[in-house]
Amino acid sequence: MLDCAIIGGGPAGLTAGLYTTRGGLKNVSLFEMGVIGGQITKSSEIENYPGFFDANKTGLDFMDAWEKQCFHFGLKHERKKVLSVEKTGEHFTISVEGGETYEALTVITCTGSTPKRAGFEGEDDFFGRGVSTCATCDGFFYKNKPVTVLGGGDTALEEAFFLSNICSDVYVVHRRDEFRAAPPTLDRAIRKSNIHLITDSVIDEAYGGVMGLDGVKIKNTKTDTITDMQNSGLFVFVGHNVNNSILKDPQGNFICDMSDRGQVIVNLSMHTSVKGLFCAGDLRIEAPKQVVSAAGDGSIAGLQVISYLQELA
Ligand code: FAD
Ligand code: NAP
Repeated sequence: MLDCAIIGGGPAGLTAGLYTTRGGLKNVSLFEMGVIGGQITKSSEIENYPGFFDANKTGLDFMDAWEKQCFHFGLKHERKKVLSVEKTGEHFTISVEGGETYEALTVITCTGSTPKRAGFEGEDDFFGRGVSTCATCDGFFYKNKPVTVLGGGDTALEEAFFLSNICSDVYVVHRRDEFRAAPPTLDRAIRKSNIHLITDSVIDEAYGGVMGLDGVKIKNTKTDTITDMQNSGLFVFVGHNVNNSILKDPQGNFICDMSDRGQVIVNLSMHTSVKGLFCAGDLRIEAPKQVVSAAGDGSIAGLQVISYLQELA
């Protein structure tokens, strides 16, 4: 029986692992199906984590030290995809891909979120063949070539800036004329001569052939004019969906209270409506969607798990 099962190894899950194990729990496992570090490992930069300010370090570099530190106090790693969490009497059953199950006295769900698809024609056909959601992973393929970026949030503008140092030109297509990105991020993009902002516009179609993407058709939503942009890289940054499926029972109902946007409702202790089930990071209601706040949530959840187990004993 695990003292605590932590699901998801991003900033929230890693910090929860650090606090539970360093706080004395002996039997804690972190279930992470992918790269340790979570979404930020896909970022080309991080400049708003207090105490860390190095423009030459990527998100992956940044999380490297977290992995070393958070596993230092006895946290175990199960490289497995969790399929479901179920409360069985006083404890939890965690089912993973392949049919295995684990029992745990407490669970902290930190499964975060994944990039959304925008839904234009050709997006799925050319995904991985010209259409990408990761500039650090795929930007280099377009060295000295023009690329298109879709979206008007922090991710789109930050990643456009990153791409502008590799690619000849970066065309940022945004559906409104106001940007959601933070003002300094937008200003920096505006000042870069090879970033071109195309507002009030959407991608109508991505087209190409067996070799991959050849171009995109951009539609101005005010005039309906279509512009043909012939370039082979399109980066889509249109937000994220929360990964909440592990909290569904076999009938498809959530096992704890959720918001109407599918986020987990927690109190200030990161405790859900189910005793012993905690949630931290981007998956919880009103998450600021920042590394620093996900880590803060993870520390709260870790400390609360220790208190909860002390009360049970
Ligand atoms: P995540 O980081 O999403 O981690 C969740 C983890 O759970 C993932 O590793 C995933 O593989 C795992 N997982 C999911 N489902 C399962 C399952 N069923 N079984 C096992 N494992 C599972 N924030 C900032 O503060 N500053 C920035 O500069 C910044 N830049 C960003 C740039 C980009 C490109 C992106 C995408 C995000 C950025 N963010 C930034 C936001 C920040 O990365 C997130 O807020 C933060 O990572 C959330 O942490 P988390 O631990 O809640 O979830
Ligand atoms: P986001 O803030 O939700 O922005 C998504 C953008 O995509 C919006 O501009 C939106 O347009 C547009 N969009 C959505 N659906 C679309 C569609 N189908 N077609 C075309 N455009 C579409 O997402 P994000 O930029 O990934 O950021 C997610 C969270 O992480 C945010 O809270 C953000 O602050 C945080 N984050 C922070 C940092 C940082 O702190 N440095 C960096 C990256 C991310 P509208 O504006 O019209 O809605």
